[in-house]
Amino acid sequence: MSSSNSTVPYHVGSCLCGTIRYSLSSPPTQCVLCHCNNCQKSSGSAFMTNNWYPANVHTPFPPPCSAI
Ligand SMILES: [Zn+2]
Repeated sequence: MSSSNSTVPYHVGSCLCGTIRYSLSSPPTQCVLCHCNNCQKSSGSAFMTNNWYPANVHTPFPPPCSAI
């Protein structure tokens, strides 16, 4: 998905419980499938997908009041 409209996020996401949420305004600059031991342990799989974004495209959402 891509968009030239800067008001529409490229991607929105959260942690599994939804307490930490974020939006990204552009696609990643780099994507890597890493097979190192740390990434295998973190993902519980044979590899982990890592994406890099410029710092200025990330917007964290404040946590909901019930999570504080
Ligand atoms: Zn790794």
